[in-house]
Amino acid sequence: MKLDVDVLRYLSKDDFRVLTAVEMGMRNHEIVPSDLIGRIASLKHGGTYKVLKNLLKHKLVHHDSSKYDGFRLTYLGYDFLAIKTMVNRGVFTAVGRQIGVGKESDIFEVSNEDGTVMAMKLHRLGRTSFRAVKSKRDYLRHRSSFNWLYLSRLAALKEFAFMKALEEHGFPVPNAVDCNRHCVVMSLIQGYPLVQVKQLQNPETVFETIIGLVVRLAEHGLIHCDFNEFNIMIDDDEKVTMIDFPQMVSVSHRNAQMYFDRDIECIFKFFGKRFNLSFEECSDDIDDDESSRPSFSSITKTAGFLDKELAASGFTRKDEDDIQKFIEGDVEDDDVSDDEHDSELSQTNIKGFDSLHLDQEESTSRCNEEGQVVENLQSPEVGQSGDPESQNLSSNEGDENDDTELVKSLAKQRRRVMAAARKGHHKNSTSRNSYKDKGGKSSNNSKIQKQLASW
Ligand code: ADP
Ligand code: MG
Repeated sequence: MKLDVDVLRYLSKDDFRVLTAVEMGMRNHEIVPSDLIGRIASLKHGGTYKVLKNLLKHKLVHHDSSKYDGFRLTYLGYDFLAIKTMVNRGVFTAVGRQIGVGKESDIFEVSNEDGTVMAMKLHRLGRTSFRAVKSKRDYLRHRSSFNWLYLSRLAALKEFAFMKALEEHGFPVPNAVDCNRHCVVMSLIQGYPLVQVKQLQNPETVFETIIGLVVRLAEHGLIHCDFNEFNIMIDDDEKVTMIDFPQMVSVSHRNAQMYFDRDIECIFKFFGKRFNLSFEECSDDIDDDESSRPSFSSITKTAGFLDKELAASGFTRKDEDDIQKFIEGDVEDDDVSDDEHDSELSQTNIKGFDSLHLDQEESTSRCNEEGQVVENLQSPEVGQSGDPESQNLSSNEGDENDDTELVKSLAKQRRRVMAAARKGHHKNSTSRNSYKDKGGKSSNNSKIQKQLASW
């Protein structure tokens, strides 16, 4: 997807005010009724419609009038909100070229004032195969408080939390710099995904390092679940770095053994094919079963090892449950045999992360939900033209307080509107109709409250 951050520089305060109002409205509505956006944004002289038209022109919002007149954020709109927050925090000042397209993400180079180049990963859950999307849609249909933006935000938060925790335990992962919404900023790995590497000086050593990582992860209570040549980076000195963590599970997950074996099998298969390794010779010291694969059952595992670090990043048990249920939509459809499928479906309460005893409480980290609500949303001014490859996004420091106030006041305004809707006190019949009745899933009061609580 094209990310033209030039547009970002020319968006006005009102544009961001309305864009933020749409984001807030999406906590309860897949499509936010236009009048609700107007009431949350409460622009002094009206004019929300004109602003929405501008946002629509730049593809930051999508218009939907199939059930009622409303808007939702597009991924681009969500990108801009996250990028603006990162710029205001001083995390980076310029966005450069796209360096990766993952299954469900886009990765860009970004650089800060010192010229340090980092990687920015924008999560895009839902951008998968038709089958997987279908199963996810089926799942989401029964969970009206979920939407793609929410899930992408959870994926980013999980990735950030795991990267930080793993780094603290000495695993070779990128340095986790910051996260906001669906966006994670991390150090840039100077290397290539293993899938692009045709030759290695020491394939045996690299192979053993990688298998050693899977085993060490399990000892720390974790399974990567997507450990393959696409998610292993290797540099010119053949140093290995692992990436891509949103799908990790605990070793006490009911399918832990299967996930572990699958990770191991991927590595064996790849090294066998690409580097012609013969495993009987090179994996003697880690070999402990007949097939020369490390065996899950013989590893001493310490579940819950990283709980403290994960909770410190603001990643809660509820977050884990939510994202795991979503991810397992894939497993049910694509990866599990029919028998397993049946037994999965019969479980009413799927718990993905049994042994990670995460705090139920949100932490005060700036990555948590409340943190998101009070983000600064400072209007970036026109930046100087510099590196032709990257787009500078200098910000105006004087606006910082104003923007904090903006988000706070919009949140307050939204709460007021929601409270009025709960009491059914709307005088305006258009508002009541579109908001309470045509809003579909949020037509009863307790449901609205539940959705509010679960955002
Ligand atoms: P996905 O979850 O969508 O698979 P990944 O995290 O695996 O996304 O990233 C996709 C690609 O982007 C990787 O294969 C790699 O080429 C590149 N990439 C991701 N993170 C970094 C990083 N920190 N440094 C350099 N390249 C990266
Ligand atoms: Mg990947």
